[in-house]
Amino acid sequence: MNNADLIQRDLAAIWHPCSQMKDHEWLPMTPIKRGEGVWLEDFDGNRYIDAISSWWVNIFGHANPRINAALRQQMEDLEHVILSGFTHYSAIELAERLIKLTPEGLNRCFYADNGSSAVEVALKMSFHYWYNTGQNKKKRFINLSNSYHGETLGALAMGDVALYKEIYAELLLEPITVASPDCFYRDEGESEEAYSRRMFVQMEQTLEQHADEVCAVIIEPLIQCAGNMRMYHPVYLELLREACDRHNVHLIADEVAVGFGRTGTLFACEQADITPDFMCLSKGLTGGYLPLSVTMTTDKIYDAFYDDYNTLKAFLHSHSYTGNALACRAALATLDIFEQDNVIESNRHLARHMQQATTHFAEHPNVAEVRQTGMVLAIEMVKDKKSREPFPWQERRGLTVYRHALKHQALLRPLGNVIYFMPPYVISTDEIDHLAEVAWQGIQLACE
Ligand code: PMP
Repeated sequence: MNNADLIQRDLAAIWHPCSQMKDHEWLPMTPIKRGEGVWLEDFDGNRYIDAISSWWVNIFGHANPRINAALRQQMEDLEHVILSGFTHYSAIELAERLIKLTPEGLNRCFYADNGSSAVEVALKMSFHYWYNTGQNKKKRFINLSNSYHGETLGALAMGDVALYKEIYAELLLEPITVASPDCFYRDEGESEEAYSRRMFVQMEQTLEQHADEVCAVIIEPLIQCAGNMRMYHPVYLELLREACDRHNVHLIADEVAVGFGRTGTLFACEQADITPDFMCLSKGLTGGYLPLSVTMTTDKIYDAFYDDYNTLKAFLHSHSYTGNALACRAALATLDIFEQDNVIESNRHLARHMQQATTHFAEHPNVAEVRQTGMVLAIEMVKDKKSREPFPWQERRGLTVYRHALKHQALLRPLGNVIYFMPPYVISTDEIDHLAEVAWQGIQLACE
């Protein structure tokens, strides 16, 4: 088997996600044979550093021996069992550990099998909570501009990235959209904190005006990842928690992308010292091994559904693979690694190295900003540095960086004109240096 054979077979049978399939007439697919640590190897023996953690899921490397061993053991005992009326050890142990690790007060875990579903669960639970408690007017949600919460219709509606959403507009719920605190747009000399506070005024006004009809505010804490890795200050979360309480509106923290150490703390909400009413987790939850998600919530919410069967207050949402045993066991092994290896601390060192390896990018004539929150570093490539005018999207400059990187042992997959590093936490400083070098050359090439 070689790359060419597999590409041919692939293109005859598979419809890939987030792809214009016609691109593959000239843009080769990369069939991966094996992975080890941060490295991926294709069928022709080429190697690539997985700088984007395979869509932000992988945190402790491919083929991690500890996760592999845990999965082998789980497989011997139980691969999966229905989670309605039945349960299993790994699901119980995982829920207990997540309750201990997440912000105080999140005491209930509802499992599903991907990030979008975790968001759907939070939306439905929030709406249903208000219904069960007799507040039937609450039917809407508030989201932020430039947000992303997944691709199923409910989650898609809560996002605001036109590329994914616009075409389906007529099928979607209509949230009330408040301008994002995205600090890329702060004034010169204005601090991120000051800008995030300033932008909160709009949220406060919207809550004041609409609280009676609103179930929840949904946000991605600290980083709007799919929205080009735009970042904001934790003070926004602090203010939002306080305002949601005051206006009797739930807060949904979608930590699908930022959970499990990405922002420098185990969960992004920790940086604002807040407990959301719902917290959605997925991606890094299983170390990037298997699809699993969890929507965590409080006793107060749970209790509003807990009643005699005939009251019909139960939350009946279900997915076949809810709480899959293999996925839960991979998640437990992932949490073991966090516990045993002092990961958050060693990530600080890696994050500092990413910053040092890219300081010179800020001087590049086509770089408007280099921004970083923990283990996410993003480089905003623009046509004009001074006015920050972007390159027209049709020029697909980011794709030039992607193609250059593939030729130089790196999987970098820019979001439009934003090049970013979001690597597994087992990356070495030499590998970070290599990524920085490849990204620099790629930007040079893309801006010619
Ligand atoms: N929420 C956020 C913040 C995400 O970044 C994503 C995925 N990129 C999702 C939800 C959806 O997760 P999934 O792709 O597993 O459905």
